[in-house]
Amino acid sequence: PRYFKAPAPPRAPAHLPPTSFDGMEAGLRSLSLVTVCEEAQCPNIGECWSGGTATVMLLGDTCTRGCQFCAVKTSVAPPPPDAFEPLRAAGEIVKWGVDYVVLTSVDRDDLPDGGAGHFRETVENIKSASGGRMLVECLVSDFAGNLTSVDHLAKAGMDVYAHNVETVPRLQKYVRDPKANYEQSMRTLARAKRAGVYTKTSLMLGLGERDEEVEQVMRDLREIGVDVVTFGQYLRPTEKHLSVVEYVSEEKFDYFRELGERMGFRYVASGPMVRSSYKAGEYFLTNMIK
Ligand code: SF4
Ligand code: SF4
Repeated sequence: PRYFKAPAPPRAPAHLPPTSFDGMEAGLRSLSLVTVCEEAQCPNIGECWSGGTATVMLLGDTCTRGCQFCAVKTSVAPPPPDAFEPLRAAGEIVKWGVDYVVLTSVDRDDLPDGGAGHFRETVENIKSASGGRMLVECLVSDFAGNLTSVDHLAKAGMDVYAHNVETVPRLQKYVRDPKANYEQSMRTLARAKRAGVYTKTSLMLGLGERDEEVEQVMRDLREIGVDVVTFGQYLRPTEKHLSVVEYVSEEKFDYFRELGERMGFRYVASGPMVRSSYKAGEYFLTNMIK
């Protein structure tokens, strides 16, 4: 079956009040929640926010890792997490009236559980404050391979467990922080799947990967039951970051989308501007809730 219908028509969430870009922006300002959408100056902000999807950053803005493609601030000892954030953020997010929220964070290798408990509390608070109505995706780190953290979070009542493998195995060491690797990422996705949630991952294209390497990653992902995969063009954030090897053609993005659909992914988002959370709510409502 073809799960992905592109372009997906915006679905008005009939069970929720209308969402407006301005309303969300005001909510964000009032509680100083940080969205990746704004921080990363994501080009999809209009489409995503008016379609009811936003990506919120938890656990601060300073990462304990330093990937070669990422412009986030780094430190081995970031400030401690705000213990009230799970409650505060949930209260505000529910007020927006969005139907789908993506929670994400920097990597926090300084915390014993990598921040899994903080995410879990936030998910539980959102679910409880929205009467279970709001859909929650968590886009998280590999928790340094700590599968207890993966279990703890995956069983929090969330809907989609996302973790990005970022690139093909051969390029991992040039692209990601040395603490990350392909096998560790695959193990966390496989473990999350065992908790019965949908799983999702993303790859950047244009880093010098070969088609057959991407196809092998797709087979590996299907083997561990990953439901959703997204492909987007890598863009260099500053001169200090990895160079773009190739601007991948629209046809190539279409090729991977069609291949992914044939391979049985529940949906595949693939295009130069696609980011992990691109219109995630719309795609989820269109393709996963029948
Ligand atoms: Fe950026 Fe994530 Fe890498 Fe940290 S772990 S540097 S936030 S991509
Ligand atoms: Fe925000 Fe992700 Fe959409 Fe960009 S793609 S606007 S980061 S939800």
